[in-house]
Amino acid sequence: MEEMTTWSREAILEVYNRPLINLMYEAATVHRQHHAADEVQVSTLLSIKTGGCPEDCGYCPQAARYHTGVEGEDLLTVNHVKAQALRAKSTGSSRLCMGAAWRNVKDDADFDHVLEMVRAVNETGLEVCATLGMLTERQAQRLADAGLYAYNHNLDSSEEYYKEIISTRGYEDRLKTIENVRTAGVSVCSGGIIGMGESHEDRCGMLAVYADMETPPESIPINALVAVEGTPLEDQEPISIWEMVRMIATTRIVLPKSVIRLSAGRTNMSDEGQALCFMAGAGSIFAGDKLLTTPNPDVNKDMQLFDVLGITPMKPYSKGEKPEVNERYKDNADAEKRIKWSRPEHKIVRNEDKSMKGKSVS
Ligand code: SF4
Repeated sequence: MEEMTTWSREAILEVYNRPLINLMYEAATVHRQHHAADEVQVSTLLSIKTGGCPEDCGYCPQAARYHTGVEGEDLLTVNHVKAQALRAKSTGSSRLCMGAAWRNVKDDADFDHVLEMVRAVNETGLEVCATLGMLTERQAQRLADAGLYAYNHNLDSSEEYYKEIISTRGYEDRLKTIENVRTAGVSVCSGGIIGMGESHEDRCGMLAVYADMETPPESIPINALVAVEGTPLEDQEPISIWEMVRMIATTRIVLPKSVIRLSAGRTNMSDEGQALCFMAGAGSIFAGDKLLTTPNPDVNKDMQLFDVLGITPMKPYSKGEKPEVNERYKDNADAEKRIKWSRPEHKIVRNEDKSMKGKSVS
């Protein structure tokens, strides 16, 4: 079957609304045309700088303005990160994704430190991924030179619903960062979260944006919201496994070449539910007992499920070349003086209310 290059939101919605039993079958068929269905890529997500983020993402326990009990921590050391990478490799991961709770990357000593982490993890033979917030083209290039393989930057939802979740930056900033990553030759990982109160149309709207890209993301994480106490979305009801399977199957059909990552929310899924997600086209999971700050299944349990299903973990660099380290990543001479990212004007009352909680007005 030829890959479609243009998808309207309506056409995606038509796929999304097909009878689930047929949708799953179609998605499983497409999956087998483009991927080895008995291989799943395993990534470990490591928080290298936790909490204290200035943004107001309504789902995130790391936003400093909410009262979630997540303590701000300093950047990890390079040695610590390398040890975690080797541990992840020994338990079947092919990729280490390093996450920092930043609004955007700054050309400072912390970024230099992260570049050394990238180089150290590259040396372990794992694929190196990072998620550090908004990024200029030059910063993306320095990461690539340090040996970065992939960069994660999620669109989260449709452009319309994004405004209901985040007020401190705009959708166009997300798109610009993704473009910068692409220009630097780094593999793009970008996806969304379902269960935030968005409509089915919003879910399909996000997929339409990805499908419209000249080169869609190589990796698309689909997260189920983990409603954390203290965040504006704390009262959101969990989505059913059927919605997750439907979203994965639709993503599979619309973006047949991308690897779909079954990401946050797996602790609420049964083995059978996860198996349906793999059937419908999920080709990757995050391993490790924590996803940044929220719980995740134990890696041994994941491997037991793989055994039952006859799935093997994918080897590093199965889908792309290992980047060569180029020493010019150390050159900070041309750092941009001032990077302008947008600050939208709109307010999200729910987010503002949560940020005021616990602050006494006398
Ligand atoms: S999702 Fe990222 S940018 Fe948003 S508050 Fe959390 S750490 Fe900050």
